[in-house]
Amino acid sequence: MLEREESEFYDAVIVGAGHSGLYMLHKLRGLGFSAIVLEAEDDIGGTWYRNRYPGLRCDVESVLYSYSFDEDLDQEWEWSERFPAQPEILDYLNHVADRFDLRRDIVLNSEITGATWDDDARAWTLRAVNGKSYRGRFCLMATGILSVPSMPSDELTGAFEGEWYHTANWPKDPVDFTGKRVGVIGTGSSAVQVIPRLAEQASHLYVFQRTPAFAIPANNYRLDDDYRAWWRENFRGVREKNRWGTIVGFGDTRMDDRYRVAPVPSALDATPEERRARYQMFWDMGGGQITIGYPDLIVNEDANRTLADFTEQKIDEIVSDPETADALKPRGFPVGTKRPCLEIGYYEAFNRDNVTLVDLRRDPLARTAEHGIETRSGACYALDALVFATGYDAVTGALVRMNIQGRRGTELAAKWAAGPVAYLGLMTADFPNLFMLLGPTSPSAFTNCISSIEQHVDWIADLLVTMRGDKQEVVEVTSDAEEAWSRHAAELVGQTLFPKANSWYMGDNIPGKPRRMLIYVGGMASYREKCNAVAAAGYEGFVFSGPTAVVSS
Ligand code: NAP
Repeated sequence: MLEREESEFYDAVIVGAGHSGLYMLHKLRGLGFSAIVLEAEDDIGGTWYRNRYPGLRCDVESVLYSYSFDEDLDQEWEWSERFPAQPEILDYLNHVADRFDLRRDIVLNSEITGATWDDDARAWTLRAVNGKSYRGRFCLMATGILSVPSMPSDELTGAFEGEWYHTANWPKDPVDFTGKRVGVIGTGSSAVQVIPRLAEQASHLYVFQRTPAFAIPANNYRLDDDYRAWWRENFRGVREKNRWGTIVGFGDTRMDDRYRVAPVPSALDATPEERRARYQMFWDMGGGQITIGYPDLIVNEDANRTLADFTEQKIDEIVSDPETADALKPRGFPVGTKRPCLEIGYYEAFNRDNVTLVDLRRDPLARTAEHGIETRSGACYALDALVFATGYDAVTGALVRMNIQGRRGTELAAKWAAGPVAYLGLMTADFPNLFMLLGPTSPSAFTNCISSIEQHVDWIADLLVTMRGDKQEVVEVTSDAEEAWSRHAAELVGQTLFPKANSWYMGDNIPGKPRRMLIYVGGMASYREKCNAVAAAGYEGFVFSGPTAVVSS
């Protein structure tokens, strides 16, 4: 493990050694900045290191869920499957770290417990859990949007005498559930992936479902030589489209205009037969693209209902027991307003004799007892193990926990108590020289996150190079700029159906978290254009200062 002198001063201190932190380090180093990465875990990989539950794979296609900044890297790494499994993503990140010699500037086991801005020194000081501190001119938060698990309350775990796990904090050694009675709490993306795998092992699996998922077949497959030849021939064009969000990888990277261009503007303009054929085409293709099969699915409830009806029919076709099928149907929110889940054998798992769906909407969870779970009706489910697939304190979770203090002691957690505000999702006022990667109100989870990360890193790096050229040391955003951006982001959300669901997108899953859309819904192209326009206009909305005076605004 890298040891560093605490007295050393860096141009940039980066928090997190996942996809964002690794590329940020590589980029800054290449530009001649000194940089260090502080990582909480004992190895690199971020979200893809900590999450290692059985069945975990990405819902973006592998060829796109990878960096595009180096064509040789793009060509030499061969993905084995359409949707990459966690071990392969982690192997890839380790390959990147070795290939670009990144490890020498990464300090592991260094969870950051505080970051303070010093106006006089124009620098950030970051304190790690091990008592060490690190100083730098710029601080880059590469802490991930899904890195802080939403842990079960003591009420849910306290009395339970069996073993329990959270999907986002899985043990390094494989867990053997053979012959055990296992309960899974939650039915989001993580649960949808882990359930079929646990069902293969457990003597009996109980799925405790509060809100049914909207799950679409992944249609995963192994990538063959023909696919690779196609990729080698087309990757530049595909990457460029992906940068602008035209292809986000949730569908088929090779998809043609039949998929991309809806034949009519509204699902309601199509006949039932045409709609069914179109939805069936997306269903067979696999991936989440079905939710944009018509442009109005996410803005018009009646149009959205047509997709919900299609999904319900599919569940009826797959799940043998009508009562179970009915309970599995997503209800109470428009489809696509909670993250669609990609499934491999999820609905089929409920046809197994050793799998029982417990519908918590009908019979809510009462308490966890020593030997299992009790529901309000008095039913008792005896369990040897519990798996919590209860999600994350998404997007802002890592940032507000870190005790970040900006100008005049302003605390980030206090500033965002009523909801996060951030200009372009990159910076927030009163926190000079602090950048966020995939920050709140950036497009993050509504894009292929790797494209968003590359956009942020490149844009921030350009800004730092400009500052170096202009001999400026401090950059910050104005309150007016961040309020205008937040208003714009909120206005766009108001035109969609997203507020109609209780989702992690809106912060609903964490008690006490303010209800606010955490992600920019305007799309990658308009976000990228806006960032480029801001830079071209001399970094409109940003204020710079040199060692002594404010020099531009
Ligand atoms: P999630 O989508 O937030 O789902 C959490 C689940 O736990 C929900 O079903 C929730 O029910 C339930 N839950 C939470 N607290 C509960 C309680 N006290 N009692 C009963 N049920 C409870 O979390 P996730 O599945 O970990 O996924 C989060 C995000 O991570 C995904 O949306 C996706 O973006 C990403 N992810 C991606 C992949 C992939 O790439 N394939 C895989 C895993 C995760 P309610 O809905 O009723 O709150």
